[in-house]
Amino acid sequence: MLNPQLDSLTKMPIDKEAVLVLFYNDLRIDDNATLAKAAMLAQENHRQLLLVYADALADGIGQAHKDQAYDFDRIGDARQQFLSESLFDLNESLQRLGNRLLHLTPHTSSAPLDTFTQLCQLIEQQQVTDICVSQTADYNQNQAYGFLQRKYPQVRWHEQVTNTLFASLPMEELPKSFTQFRKQVESDHDLLNAETDVVISPAPKSLPPMPDNLINGTADNHSLFFNEHHLDVQLPSEFKGGETNAISHLNNYFNSDAPSTYKTTRNALDDWTHSTKFSAWLANGTLSVKVLLNRLRHYEREVVANESTYWIWFELLWREYFYWYAMTHQQKLFWFKGIAEQSPTTEFDKERLEQWKEGTTPYPIINACMNQLKQTGYMSNRGRQIVASCFIHELGLDWRYGATHFEQYLIDYDVASNWGNWQYLAGVGADPRGCRQFNLAKQTQQYDPSGSFIHKWQGDNTDDYVLSSP
Ligand SMILES: Cc1cc2nc3c(=O)[nH]c(=O)nc-3n(C[C@H](O)[C@H](O)[C@H](O)COP(=O)(O)OP(=O)(O)OC[C@H]3O[C@@H](n4cnc5c(N)ncnc54)[C@H](O)[C@@H]3O)c2cc1C
Repeated sequence: MLNPQLDSLTKMPIDKEAVLVLFYNDLRIDDNATLAKAAMLAQENHRQLLLVYADALADGIGQAHKDQAYDFDRIGDARQQFLSESLFDLNESLQRLGNRLLHLTPHTSSAPLDTFTQLCQLIEQQQVTDICVSQTADYNQNQAYGFLQRKYPQVRWHEQVTNTLFASLPMEELPKSFTQFRKQVESDHDLLNAETDVVISPAPKSLPPMPDNLINGTADNHSLFFNEHHLDVQLPSEFKGGETNAISHLNNYFNSDAPSTYKTTRNALDDWTHSTKFSAWLANGTLSVKVLLNRLRHYEREVVANESTYWIWFELLWREYFYWYAMTHQQKLFWFKGIAEQSPTTEFDKERLEQWKEGTTPYPIINACMNQLKQTGYMSNRGRQIVASCFIHELGLDWRYGATHFEQYLIDYDVASNWGNWQYLAGVGADPRGCRQFNLAKQTQQYDPSGSFIHKWQGDNTDDYVLSSP
């Protein structure tokens, strides 16, 4: 069955071949080597330019969540809103440059096909000669790319690196621990203290147009264009998606004193300024990590360089480490035994899983964090560590269900950072010290001594709670 919008296009004359950009976690125009490459290819070869974002591409090849413990129907509202805002902003920028975003969405009444099939139709009908993508550590997305490459061997495939500080693993082999990785990077590739800024790819000044038959096609075609109806969920959130908001947050953050005290505040459970809050924009690529690093370097030169500013770089290296960890270990990222020899002894239990997800465990600190996640799509790093530890130790659950719940709700969901951190805490990943258990009573005492966090996020709304770990 053909998608009706795409079907109508087959009746329109096609007078040119096209270059196609498949956006994924690179939803920006600045420092986007993929977009720059595609614009150059289209200009040089007099081709038109198709700019596409496809929701749930890997679903179309039956790949999404295949190696995971369980699936979910739809992503959480906050995560969806952040993504829609990001696509909206990207589309506005692309329109200013003379093109616009095509948004493939699955299973709507007007387009009853998965997005992989819709994409294949576009490739065929628009005579796509080149596809440009950004490198990703997402195993499932890469499976979809592999399918496309095999299905269309005549189409040239161009992959750029847009998501990381390093273009490839900056050493021969990924070290077993983060500390070894960091030490090696700092001795051989100290980008924080290097003489010059990291090179970025400037935003194109203009873009070649999309194929005429899309611009002048039937009214039906308009449902392929990014459409503001996708913004219909409106949740109050400090996180506003999109490159414009990312840059504005970057400016606000580095125009404040917050970077100079980051190390002393970063473990707090709440409060906007206590950690950088860059993760969500970094995760979907509305913010370039290279642009962020250059900004940090300027702050060190012009304002202050201290332990706190160093620690922002230190955390960005954790992000980098997990990216290369995911690239190295591929589908093992989703395995119960991770990269270890043996599986943990924990198990699936529906009732305990529901308690954790719904914030009705016997532990107020856990409930508060889980309520915060549900309502905002965000949880602090300290919160994530505590709830993951409780999930594994107090509740004895299979860590993959926790990771999948995070995948559904976190606005900063990133396949490498999420699954890598969960493996680490479950003792099946990159932690040389094995499984870590946090003492919930001590953590509560240390990070919420007045109980205000628990109160704010209604963590004590349960009849039967305890403060200490067994
Ligand atoms: C179980 C678990 C799951 C997680 N899932 C994700 C996820 O899906 N996406 C995600 O971006 N982060 C994840 N993290 C890492 C970390 O919790 C968040 O990056 C951080 O809380 C985001 O807030 P921030 O931007 O204010 O971080 P900051 O403390 O300000 O850190 C600055 C940046 O460094 C990076 N960073 C910091 N800590 C880590 C870390 N432990 N691992 C990798 N990168 C890090 C992030 O890009 C972050 O934006 C997870 C951590 C745990 C323990």
